[in-house]
Amino acid sequence: MKRYSVFALAREALNYHLGWEKAWKSPEPKAQYDAVIVGAGGHGLATAYYLGRNHGITNVAIIEKGWLGGGNTGRNTTIIRSNYLQDPSAAIYEKARSLYETMSQDLNYNVMFSPRGVMMLAQTHHEVRGYQRTAHANALQGVVTEFISPQRVKELCPILNIDGPRYPVLGALWQPRGGTARHDAVAWGYARACSAMGMDIIQQCEVTGVRTEGGVVRGVETTKGHIGCGKLGIVVAGHSGQVAEMAGFRLPIEAVALQALVSEPIKPCMDVVVMANTVHGYMSQSDKGEMVIGGGTDGFNNYTQRGSFHHIEETLRALIETFPIISRLKMLRQWGGIVDMTGDRSPIISRTPLGNCFINCGWGTGGFKAIPGSGWAMADLMARGEPGPLAAAFGMERFREGRFIDESVAAGVAH
Ligand SMILES: Cc1cc2nc3c(=O)[nH]c(=O)nc-3n(C[C@H](O)[C@H](O)[C@H](O)COP(=O)(O)OP(=O)(O)OC[C@H]3O[C@@H](n4cnc5c(N)ncnc54)[C@H](O)[C@@H]3O)c2cc1C
Repeated sequence: MKRYSVFALAREALNYHLGWEKAWKSPEPKAQYDAVIVGAGGHGLATAYYLGRNHGITNVAIIEKGWLGGGNTGRNTTIIRSNYLQDPSAAIYEKARSLYETMSQDLNYNVMFSPRGVMMLAQTHHEVRGYQRTAHANALQGVVTEFISPQRVKELCPILNIDGPRYPVLGALWQPRGGTARHDAVAWGYARACSAMGMDIIQQCEVTGVRTEGGVVRGVETTKGHIGCGKLGIVVAGHSGQVAEMAGFRLPIEAVALQALVSEPIKPCMDVVVMANTVHGYMSQSDKGEMVIGGGTDGFNNYTQRGSFHHIEETLRALIETFPIISRLKMLRQWGGIVDMTGDRSPIISRTPLGNCFINCGWGTGGFKAIPGSGWAMADLMARGEPGPLAAAFGMERFREGRFIDESVAAGVAH
């Protein structure tokens, strides 16, 4: 694979950009792989990448029923932060955030990581206490966050109305190195690096069954035929329940639609990410100038990639009271993704009842930020067959044993 660099750009410019090679290959599947990953979202691709990079396992196929990054990875609002309350969550999200810092260099692909700072507004006294507690927990966990005053909130984001009509801003949990990245680029960067290591990314190929024998997986049935594997990783977000059922086990997961929308592009007016969980809405400005707006999850299980219409009205109502200057903005696009929600709002990175089958899911409304850390931990689990320190607490046996990792404040409505 040719490296992307300023010299390569200059060389190609002189050649009318005719010499760029494809970023990744599109091969036909082989009969057998050492490892098969189902799902070419960010988590599946990152798992494959770290299997190769950290463990030297490169005879890997990543199987995707649509196009890579076309699931939640390409549909999210790209917020990256690690200000979670519980120790296992802070550890994996901070690992991910730190990997984002150098991801463009590591992958030789510009993922446009922008650590512009994320603030979560406290608009009730309950939230003030909650976020102060999180800031103290983060200090102990080595995650840099701070509880800031309403005046500081206004300095950092002048377009914010801190005297809101219903809920004035009482402060905020501020993570200065949180931010955003370009979601497609994260998927494309990992895909290119996986392909360069000799892995096969097989798109437009749906897994329709899992072939097992004596308690282990032998391979998967797909729309392109049977593909054998030594190890299987299931990383399919909102479809986790369906694929787990093919493998013969059940998951404590629900699938619901979560939606987002963007406005027409406007001049730069906001260089931080703001989340207002009490009124429920959050917003940042993309590099193109669009205001990127996150909505709510549907109140019922479903597999639509749209989301209910009334959420648009509720979200915009919340944001207009928070940012009055957007009241006359036109909205350009709205879409949804199918998110995988667990009861404690924490992910599952786990062994399964099948000896050589592993599952990574349950990232719900907030897994984009976790992609590199999750891939790192899942690759470790698949390579060694045992969870490492990052994944140990996230086994699915925790639901049977009552060891919940309660992140309903950090992840219940936020992203
Ligand atoms: C509107 C919205 C906003 C969000 N905002 C944020 C945010 O700001 N910050 C944040 O951190 N997170 C956010 N998230 C959550 C985040 O997008 C997800 O947690 C994350 O992208 C999940 O990645 P994934 O790789 O697990 O899943 P996906 O990207 O969905 O990938 C799973 C893939 O599996 C494939 N698949 C499914 N079934 C099969 C099968 N049978 N055979 C083959 N392939 C199959 C799918 O086609 C899909 O491509 C948001 C999500 C949504 C929907």
